[in-house]
Parts: sequence; C-alpha cells; structure tokens
Amino acid sequence: MTVRPQLDLELRGIRKRYGDFTAVDGVSLQIAKGQFVCLLGPSGCGKTTTLRCIAGLEEPDDGDILIGGTEVTRDPPWQRDIAMMFQDFALFPHMTVARQVGFGLEMLKKPRAEIAKRVSEVLAAFEIGALADRKPASLSGGQRQRVALARAMITEPRILLLDEPIGALDYSLRETVMLELKLLQQRTGISFIWVTHDQNEAFSLGDLVVVMNHARIEQQGPAAEILQKPRTAFVASFVQGNNVFRGRVVGTSGDGLVQVETTAGRFLVPREGAPLPFTGEDVSFSVRAEQITDLPSEQQPNRLAARCTAVEYFGAVRRHIFERSDGEVLKYDQFGAQAGRIVPGQTVQLGWAVEDSVLHRAAPA
Ligand code: ATP
Repeated sequence: MTVRPQLDLELRGIRKRYGDFTAVDGVSLQIAKGQFVCLLGPSGCGKTTTLRCIAGLEEPDDGDILIGGTEVTRDPPWQRDIAMMFQDFALFPHMTVARQVGFGLEMLKKPRAEIAKRVSEVLAAFEIGALADRKPASLSGGQRQRVALARAMITEPRILLLDEPIGALDYSLRETVMLELKLLQQRTGISFIWVTHDQNEAFSLGDLVVVMNHARIEQQGPAAEILQKPRTAFVASFVQGNNVFRGRVVGTSGDGLVQVETTAGRFLVPREGAPLPFTGEDVSFSVRAEQITDLPSEQQPNRLAARCTAVEYFGAVRRHIFERSDGEVLKYDQFGAQAGRIVPGQTVQLGWAVEDSVLHRAAPA
C-alpha cells in the first residue's frame, strides 16, 4: 500500500466569477507540507482572488479547497489553519504592537497569561520587543512589516498567505527582508503562499512557482524548470530573457526535430516532451538570451542576421537588443570577459544550438 503524504493545501478546480467575469477559472494545485509557493503573474490574472478563496474571504462558485486533508471550502477564515499578511499590513491603528501581535490568540480566547507569555516570546523572536508599547503610526515600514508578520505567525498556522508582502517596502530593504522570510519559513516549516507579480521574488524564493495568466495556471514547477523549459509562449515572454518565435511547422523528423518557418527564417527545434505537431500547425518556441552566440558555425542550422539597436547593462550582463529582419526584437546576453565586441548599428550573424531552443506545448495564443 502506498501512503500518500498529507498535503498542506489542495485546490480542486476552483472557479470564481464576478457577474459575467471569471476571475479564477478551474485552478487546481497541490502543496506539500512546508513548501514555499509563489503565485506569479501579471496584474489582474487572478492571484489575489485565488489567495482570498484559500483564506475564506471569497467563496468559490465551483471546486473544493482542502487544508491539511480536511475540506474547508465553505468554512469561515477563522476555522481554517491559516494566517494572512497583506501588502499594506492592515495593522490596527489604535492598538499597541503587543496587543496587535496577541490579537489572534485573544480571538481564540486563550488565557491572558498564556497570551502575554507568547507575545513576549514572539516579539523577541522578531526583534521588536522594544516596540511593544508603540502604535503603528510611529513605526517604519520595515518595523510594521515585522509586526504584521509576528501577528500572523503567533497562532502557528499550517499555511501563511502573503499578498505582495514586500511591495510596500523600500527597494533597498527588500532583499534583506526576502532572505529573512525565507529563513523563517524554513525554520518553522509553515507553508508560505506568496502572491507577487515580480519574477525575481518568485524565482529566488519559491520551491514551487505557479505562473498564472487570464484566471488559469499556465505552468507550475521549480524555478529552474520555468526558466529553462517554458511550456507556453505566454510563460516564455513573461519570464525575462527569453526570445519567443511564432511560426508554422513545415516538417518533422524521426529523430524528434521539428522544422518551424517563422517570419525571421526556418529553424530546427527539438520536440522533447511536447506533443508531435502536424505539418502546417501554428507553434511557438523560445531561446534564452544567454544561449545566443554571435559566432555560429557554418553547420549550425539555426542562424539569422540582425542589427544591434542598443546595449544595456544588468550587473555583469551586457544585453544586446537586436532588430530581426521581420522587425521583431531579439535579445542576446554576454557575460563579463566576453563583453564589448558588438556596438549599436552593427549587423551580426547570430545563432543558437538546436538543443537550446524549447518548443512550447500549447499552440500560441
Ligand atoms: P494584481 O496583481 O493587480 O493584484 P491579481 O492577479 O491579484 O492582480 P485579482 O485581484 O485576483 O488579480 O483580480 C482578478 C480579476 O478579477 C481582475 O480583473 C479584477 O478586476 C477582478 N475582480 C477581483 N475582485 C473583484 C470583485 N470583487 N468584483 C469584480 N471583479 C473583481
């Protein structure tokens, strides 16, 4: 008999409509114990609505929600083993930090002595003991964030839901706070579900990254998989550094290669896990900017000429922006010592190895 490890959260076909508009459309997700999950996607794709359904702040029209193996779809928030932290932190303006942090235990009607003890432990753990008697108006953004987190964590929930939790912080603080939160999550073993539209946050924090678009999940998996093997043209273009090509299949070979005709030329792409496309089918594929070379060999089948229009720097990366013959943009990244050979205005032969291109599994939208 196989024993199924208990999941912290399971969503089965969640659907949420507002009038005629579908905000969440059949979202299914399984979150194992103690995972750090990031819901990533553009504004309006349904991330927050999904989170609010998990929290019990919205009731889905269809589908089931299970927390720790128990169905909670229609249970109120306080009967779910969760806590939530909002972007604006939603602190109570009139309450001191100590009262604020103990509020969840007060709601659970815990004895006063126990609340006082737990509050002082949690304030110490979050290094905000000195702020115990202050009110939110006198705190900095970083301090408010700690108070909100301490308040959420004091009940030791199974799952912590975080909606853009560092969006309100100064840019300079974000990296430190992200690291602290990641360590806290690992130490406590509480599952974090973190909503963000910022891919850097999602890729550096998430054990599991769930990419949403138009109310649905487009792809879910570890960060490396989403970066290296985007399943759809949407995921490839949403993730920084991909070059997306759209075209039509003009041939397939027995060794798993697909020939695609695009407005920029014909290219060979490995089929890999994608279904075998038929000749004439519309497909898309992508190549990462760092996989492009400006010294393609004569034998390399994937080559094109393009004109450099700009050069940008991202830390040690030198990104060249090219205009393809069909007017589309192509990005090519060079690192460190390689840098410094191509200048704007120059037309260059570019290419990439067949195995560095990824055929998308769904027909392009
Ligand atoms: P953002 O990153 O901008 O917060 P999101 O991915 O979290 O976006 P949601 O807040 O889940 O998106 O919203 C999804 C869609 O549902 C949006 O088009 C939004 O306008 C709509 N929506 C959300 N709540 C309501 C509501 N109460 N009534 C009507 N439409 C709503």
